[in-house]
Amino acid sequence: MAKHIFVTGGVVSSLGKGITAASLAHLLKARGYKVTMQKIDPYLNVDPGTMSPYQHGEVFVTDDGYESDLDLGHYERFIDESLTRESNFTQGAIYQSLITKERRGDFLGGTVQVIPHVTNAIKERLYRIADQTQADIVISEIGGTVGDIESQPFIEAARQFKKEKPAGDVVFIHCTLVPYIAAAHEVKTKPTQHSVKELRSVGVQPDFIVCRSDHEISQSVREKIALFCDVTPEDVIACIDAPSIYQVPLALYDQSFDGKVLSRLGLPAYGLPDLAPLRKFLSDQDNCHGEVDIAIVGKYVQLPDAYLSIMEALHHAGVANGVATNLHLIDAEKVSDASAPELLGSMDAVLVPGGFGARAFEGKIAAVRFAREQKIPFFGICLGLQAAVCEFARNVAGLEGATSSEFDEQAAYQVVDIMPDQRNIDEKGGTMRLGAYPCKLRKDTRAFEIYGDEVIYERHRHRFEVSNVYRPRLEEAGLVVSGESPDGRLTEMVELEDHPWFVATQAHPEFKSRPTRPHPLFTSFVAAAKAKRQG
Ligand code: GLN
Repeated sequence: MAKHIFVTGGVVSSLGKGITAASLAHLLKARGYKVTMQKIDPYLNVDPGTMSPYQHGEVFVTDDGYESDLDLGHYERFIDESLTRESNFTQGAIYQSLITKERRGDFLGGTVQVIPHVTNAIKERLYRIADQTQADIVISEIGGTVGDIESQPFIEAARQFKKEKPAGDVVFIHCTLVPYIAAAHEVKTKPTQHSVKELRSVGVQPDFIVCRSDHEISQSVREKIALFCDVTPEDVIACIDAPSIYQVPLALYDQSFDGKVLSRLGLPAYGLPDLAPLRKFLSDQDNCHGEVDIAIVGKYVQLPDAYLSIMEALHHAGVANGVATNLHLIDAEKVSDASAPELLGSMDAVLVPGGFGARAFEGKIAAVRFAREQKIPFFGICLGLQAAVCEFARNVAGLEGATSSEFDEQAAYQVVDIMPDQRNIDEKGGTMRLGAYPCKLRKDTRAFEIYGDEVIYERHRHRFEVSNVYRPRLEEAGLVVSGESPDGRLTEMVELEDHPWFVATQAHPEFKSRPTRPHPLFTSFVAAAKAKRQG
């Protein structure tokens, strides 16, 4: 039977609950336990797939094609496991399933209510993930902040769940902010006291309190929080801002957080956890010499979280190459043939990431053109591949004005077109080509050399593809299709020969990069940037 850990948040959002939860998971896995994680989001969207990157950061995609919250990316990177659609659900999804049942008549005329119907549906998900994954420990992060109206059913469900399970099977961890007030020269515990009071008012007593702060949490502060919040001072854990998120597991380990949690759950803490791979990554990170400047030319640059997995993947690859990666988020709307030399001229590499909609597409084309002509290493991801193909079509293959039918259905040369199985789809949610698909690599290509495998799997999230009508013409002009779907119907990767490093993929390889297992495409791309830097 699985043990369960709930992680709640107090005082403010964006506390890094996900990193705390994932760091604890890393330690428990390193102790030999089978750990899984899930994110529970209280909002009413059915999934995050249709939410704006400006509001919600990137949409992370799982192997089985679920469009999830970006915290799943942290989970995967910290526990080095591929998660599934079981690992994220929203209040919207819970309501959708209940309303579908109600319309079908499943409730036989009964009144459908938050308690017990919504809470039962939430608990069902808690039992189901334990059942399906056969994990020893399930960590569930409840999104939002304690006290929010919309998170109440989740806290209540977790409370009931604890009552249903044998004593000692469920642990609550409450993450709060302990702010430093400069004028008083001290950190303040009152917000934590209030947020724990709020949690206790709905029947949940936290077992541990994790204090997020940019200042040290002294013993007397721990004692004060312990006294007011009814825990012991040892159960008040400090989580101080760290220069690297990957240091957080070690900071928690230094306070024996994993051992304390295991003991509360009645599980043995055998020997010492295997933290060697993480420690190696951190020491490599500290020992980087030199740096590279990499431009990410996108349209959602005001919110860096929109490119979170790409930035992490570049960082992992930098560490693997022994260089710091200075990432420059460049607004594609500002890039043109005229401005490219100034904006991109000093870069060691250019990456064009995924995106939707016409705005800023021309800037991406200009960035591709500059990187191609100036022989700057170029990496195109999803819409980045489509931009690379349009640019090549226009400026090399002579197809003037070539574009994607996503942006102009009247254009003369629609070299990127809607996939046939997407043509008649009207609903936006969860209907793209999603999740892991196989890709066959052509033997004599850079892609094959990098992956070292003939068939690879990457995760997808798109509706458009390189048009097979124009593919022969593009290939004749020199575009190398280095990867395609096994049936040959879909162009999955392209590259150029007469260039130091020009590779684009229709998939999102960034989702599979982990600190301890950097992604080969990113590692090779950063190596090319490093080579350019060193001249
Ligand atoms: N908008 C493009 C498509 O739907 C690219 C999507 C993406 O970059 N994720 O095909």
